[in-house]
Amino acid sequence: MQRLVVIGGGAAGFFCAVNAARLHPALEVIIAEKGSRVLNKVRVSGGGRCNVTHACFERADMIKKYPRGTHFVKKAFHQFFTTDTIEWFAARGVTLKTEPDGRMFPVTDSSQTIIDCLLKEANRYGVQLRMNRDVTTLDRSGDRWNIQFANGELIEADYVCVACGGYPKASMFDWLKKTGHSIEEPVPSLFTFNMPGNPITKLMGVSVEKALVRITGTKLQEEGPLLITHWGMSGPAVLRLSAWGARVLNAGQYEFTAMVNWLPQHNEQSLRDLLGELRFELARQKMNNKNPFGLPQRLWEYLLEQSGIKDDIRWADLPAAGQNKLVKLLSAQEFAVKGKTTFKEEFVTAGGIRLQEVDANTMMSKLAQGLFFAGEILDVDGVTGGFNFQHAWTSGWIAANAIAAAAGGHR
Ligand SMILES: Cc1cc2nc3c(=O)[nH]c(=O)nc-3n(C[C@H](O)[C@H](O)[C@H](O)COP(=O)(O)OP(=O)(O)OC[C@H]3O[C@@H](n4cnc5c(N)ncnc54)[C@H](O)[C@@H]3O)c2cc1C
Repeated sequence: MQRLVVIGGGAAGFFCAVNAARLHPALEVIIAEKGSRVLNKVRVSGGGRCNVTHACFERADMIKKYPRGTHFVKKAFHQFFTTDTIEWFAARGVTLKTEPDGRMFPVTDSSQTIIDCLLKEANRYGVQLRMNRDVTTLDRSGDRWNIQFANGELIEADYVCVACGGYPKASMFDWLKKTGHSIEEPVPSLFTFNMPGNPITKLMGVSVEKALVRITGTKLQEEGPLLITHWGMSGPAVLRLSAWGARVLNAGQYEFTAMVNWLPQHNEQSLRDLLGELRFELARQKMNNKNPFGLPQRLWEYLLEQSGIKDDIRWADLPAAGQNKLVKLLSAQEFAVKGKTTFKEEFVTAGGIRLQEVDANTMMSKLAQGLFFAGEILDVDGVTGGFNFQHAWTSGWIAANAIAAAAGGHR
């Protein structure tokens, strides 16, 4: 009997294991998990609801959500896409629903539904779960793999799928480097910006539906919802920036200037013209009473205060200096960022197994026979919104199919 050992009992590992076991019933499939529980991240993901995938049905749009691995996922999505994820779960009684921002969750709003489904599949196809198995060495002798665990146990396998997730430190990859693979240095992605001591933090809880955030000195910019927190800024625009800027921001030790345009439909000039018109239109009204841009009232009052515009001033009496400052703050307010905070809902590691060394059509190593990779261990990561799980499902499924085919099963 041929044997597949999947290293790591997370989303990618389970998807590989259950699909391989289903496609090739004669294959012995073992999941070796370092911890005492499987599917831990699935459990906590999406605030306990599991954001399984994203309602994005165009590959060309989808690949733009992966700051690292764009070309790799482009190939992979031809084999298993978001639509396939939705169907795969639906065929097993798990219906997904779409939220207005495109994120997809189980209709139960519980990640346990996804866990139960994967565990049921594992049980149905006889996948063996071995907990507390921390792989320390992986090497090949003859035409089999030797998998050595920290507890001294050793097992052999014909096929190995490494699905051990993202490692935050380069040294944690040492056991994998021995397979001949090289590693893109890991750095965190999906974090929020710290702005210690900045008065904006007094507005914690205020959110703006659409702001444009730029990182000065780079080409990085993102438009979208922005949330002010007690330590700085968060929200989709910031998280996406953190993902696209993961490497450059790490290189600068997370010290940079973020520039916010609170009204991205305007630039400095169009705003200047508009304020000029508003002085006449709203002449008799007090500026702090009348917020003509639909910004949250607390933010509007803060921007007036920062512009040195007094509380009771009327639009007609707006001094030129105040007007200039307000235009500047509305269109390009600068914030000194010092440090980052991990986003509690979803964070990932950028970096991992170098993609040139893995075939995106099979997830098979180009360097070692019978060795496959799936999930976050690869140098692929997406922005928030279900894109990281989609990559886990896609790569796990492709690896399963390639392993089943190599072992002589059906594709
Ligand atoms: C709090 C949080 C919430 C998230 N929410 C979402 C979300 O809603 N939607 C989304 O798309 N993404 C989300 N993500 C990201 C997503 O969870 C990951 O991208 C995804 O889980 C990666 O799956 P994986 O199977 O590759 O790795 P993991 O889920 O990390 O699983 C890897 C497994 O391998 C085990 N392992 C590691 N080393 C060894 C070893 N040497 N031997 C044996 N076992 C080992 C680990 O213990 C772990 O169980 C979230 C992440 C976090 C941290």
